[in-house]
Amino acid sequence: MSTTVLWFRRDLRLADHPALLAALAAADEVVPLFVLDPALLGPAVAPRTAFLFGCLDHLAARTDGALVLRSGDPVVEVPRLAAEVGAEAVHVTADFGPYGHRRDEAVAAALADQGASLVREGTPYVTAPGSVTTGSGTSFKVFTPYFKAWERVPVDAPAPAPERPRWVTGVTGVDLPPAPDLAGSRILEPGEEAATRRLDRFVDEALERYGEDRDSPAAEGTSRLSVDLKYGTVHPRQLLARAGRGPGGDRFRFELAWRDFYATILFEQPETARHPLRTEMDAIEVDEGPAADERFRAWAEGRTGYPIVDAGMRQLLGEAYVHNRVRMIVASFLVKDLHLDWRRGARHFMRHLQDGDLASNNHGWQWVAGTGTDAAPYFRVFNPVTQGKRFDPEGAYIRRWVPELAGLEGAAVHEPWKAGGGEQGQLFAGYPPPIVDHAVERAEALRRYEVLRAT
Ligand SMILES: Cc1cc2nc3c(=O)[nH]c(=O)nc-3n(C[C@H](O)[C@H](O)[C@H](O)COP(=O)(O)OP(=O)(O)OC[C@H]3O[C@@H](n4cnc5c(N)ncnc54)[C@H](O)[C@@H]3O)c2cc1C
Repeated sequence: MSTTVLWFRRDLRLADHPALLAALAAADEVVPLFVLDPALLGPAVAPRTAFLFGCLDHLAARTDGALVLRSGDPVVEVPRLAAEVGAEAVHVTADFGPYGHRRDEAVAAALADQGASLVREGTPYVTAPGSVTTGSGTSFKVFTPYFKAWERVPVDAPAPAPERPRWVTGVTGVDLPPAPDLAGSRILEPGEEAATRRLDRFVDEALERYGEDRDSPAAEGTSRLSVDLKYGTVHPRQLLARAGRGPGGDRFRFELAWRDFYATILFEQPETARHPLRTEMDAIEVDEGPAADERFRAWAEGRTGYPIVDAGMRQLLGEAYVHNRVRMIVASFLVKDLHLDWRRGARHFMRHLQDGDLASNNHGWQWVAGTGTDAAPYFRVFNPVTQGKRFDPEGAYIRRWVPELAGLEGAAVHEPWKAGGGEQGQLFAGYPPPIVDHAVERAEALRRYEVLRAT
């Protein structure tokens, strides 16, 4: 009997899993493995860890209890398990993140030392980072031409889950630690079946109007599949197959391409995990010190006095999620109204988001801050009041997350300082006055960019 290992990482599903199919084709039986890696678990917060543990529980059940958990450095643990079960190969879905890529190189070298190999099959993306190139073979720096080339790449139809995978049972491992305390934060249900239900709901109820509703934070207009894409409880190929062609499907495809694009940028320029893509932007003046720290805290705790910003930041703490439009508004506010370094905001997001993903988060922030892939960032300073009025006209999203303002009717919810004829700065039902004047700070943000441009 030949035995091989399937090492699960960000691919916690059985359907449409090329590495699983490759493992089953290569050997008589498969040991399913997950390594609890302190380097990844350490920085993750409760919502992400709880989701991951829930996915592992599901996977253990789906593999008839065969899933082996090991805890420690994968460079030690993976070769050790392979030697224990006599496997000559360990199958994985390729990882393109800076840490995962380095880790896999080290695991491959350690396996080679004992005469075994790491076999990469499939990726977490529609197209593997680095595979979509210009006619002359170079990479794209701007999204629109990337998207045109991305659309031309043929995509395989998703493969069903194998009918009777031959799992090896009884290999010893560690127990899953208890799920962390969520401290009142609500998270999405983990696991492949829950992901399928989310996809069904989206296709049945929201896809057709996705183009119109995706910008309304009060609507259930988006898929909420970002966390499933992060942990691979669904593959984007499965989403494309279900979304099909049509106005909603086309727009959804466009958004999924952003995910591939950002993963590509990070893969090709891993230093952009910490530094601006446009390196000259590193010199922009940012505020630091106790006053800046207090502004950061007001932002993080949802008490800036700008209702749409506060609603978004409270959604982050309450649901470990923020609607995409609101992510842009709160990020713009941190960078261009509070003049804080985008990395502070990106770190806060990574700490709290259930779908926290280095590539999408980092480059989402860089796009808003004007340090990344967007070609015309100077002029776009989001006005938090007009953004709120435009995308949450009835104020339903604001009222959900900022209950102090629930009593305000209509558009008054966007400018509570005007309620009751008061001056700007007046408290409304315990809700704070704005911590800054947007018009003043917008001018200041543009001034700082101009200084940079002139140097
Ligand atoms: C400042 C900022 C930070 C962000 N941080 C993250 C993050 O950590 N993790 C993350 O998955 N997304 C991030 N995004 C992108 C986007 O906000 C989320 O993917 C989206 O809100 C998730 O909700 P959904 O699954 O319902 O999206 P849907 O609208 O249903 O979109 C479907 C999928 O397309 C992808 N997608 C959609 N919009 C984007 C985008 N702008 N960039 C990249 N991929 C996109 C996501 O995988 C998403 O799940 C960030 C955006 C900004 C502006």
